Amino acid sequence: MTRFGRYGGIYVPETLMVPIEELTEAFEYFRANPLFQKELNELLSTYAGRPTPITFVPTFSDKVQAKVYLKREDLLHTGAHKLNNSLGQALLAKRMGKRRLIAETGAGQHGVATATAAARLGMECVVYMGTTDMKRQAHNVVRMRLLGAEVRPVSAGSRTLKDAINEALRDWVSNLASTHYCLGSALGPHPYPTMVREFQRVIGDEAKIQFREMTGRLPDTVVACVGGGSNAIGIFTAFLNDSVKLIGVEAGGRGTGRGEHAARFMFDSDPLNHIGVLHGTETFLLQDEDGNILPTYSVSAGLDYPAVGPEHAFLFETKRASYSSISDDLAISAFKMLTQTEGIMPALESSHAIAYVIREMKGSNEFILINCSGRGDKDLSIVEDWMKGHGEL
Ligand SMILES: *Cc1c(COP(=O)(O)O)cnc(C)c1O
Repeated sequence: MTRFGRYGGIYVPETLMVPIEELTEAFEYFRANPLFQKELNELLSTYAGRPTPITFVPTFSDKVQAKVYLKREDLLHTGAHKLNNSLGQALLAKRMGKRRLIAETGAGQHGVATATAAARLGMECVVYMGTTDMKRQAHNVVRMRLLGAEVRPVSAGSRTLKDAINEALRDWVSNLASTHYCLGSALGPHPYPTMVREFQRVIGDEAKIQFREMTGRLPDTVVACVGGGSNAIGIFTAFLNDSVKLIGVEAGGRGTGRGEHAARFMFDSDPLNHIGVLHGTETFLLQDEDGNILPTYSVSAGLDYPAVGPEHAFLFETKRASYSSISDDLAISAFKMLTQTEGIMPALESSHAIAYVIREMKGSNEFILINCSGRGDKDLSIVEDWMKGHGEL
């Protein structure tokens, strides 16, 4: 199965069809291989820090008059859920006989996770990053270089994530024998959306058991932020067949105009106008009438991408999940509120999911599980600037 309904597929140049098939076969073989699973599970538990806990947040819950629990991916090694996927793909690549990992990165989080997995598994690592992003995220560039990765600047196009993906794909085509392309979200051509989901579903599989142990029941609602969609699909998957509401939260940015947000599911015209192909997959996109990709904006770099993972497009169409968006301002307020009420500083990405609960679920009295996809330390200077701009510091 290469598609989720009409979404997904494999839209790549002929030269990539063979490596895509090779990867699909290897993934299908190893996902059912007990030795591979054992080695990955050992890495996840003894190196990455799984299982991550779920935490009831009592003061925050009082404020929103609901019973709120956080899945603590912020406590995973390197500070976000991304390492689940990078470790899984790195181990798979090693079993396939590859010695070199390449990755794209926007904010640098996926680059850091992949550089970390490469260091641990003794592999070479090259990370493609737009020069605009390298300036914005200088600290993560240093982190990747310290981890032994080579960071290659990309100065094409808008010099951001989308251009870095193009460059990584080009590298892959030229170095197929030695190299695995470690894609960072539930995106791209098949098998990536399925493979990344399978490496991230540990989030929801753990959370479901933990939630039952703590409360004796399942949550009414599960909420997660959606960039490419990997942390959201990672927590949703365990609950797909239960009567649990699933809500994905996109970046509403600073307005509803073109280039002001990254909310792919926010539109008021015919849905068909919003479907297209980007980076090898058919899905909902931010595009103009001629199919040109529109610029995007969000205060949180991890949500700032013009396409959404194809399985989310399918969950949207079939109404199994619903999608909403949250503005920069509300995300920053939620960041501050969770930090002050509970001593947990969430990533600005995760703050979008928290803000949704504050705005939409106040007084619901529901049992709510939020995926806290990462920690907020990386976002301190952005929040500092915002507070200075609002006379709060
Ligand atoms: C990258 C990132 C995201 C967005 O990516 P998804 O693939 O949508 O999960 C969300 N939260 C954090 C902390 C991230 O680093």
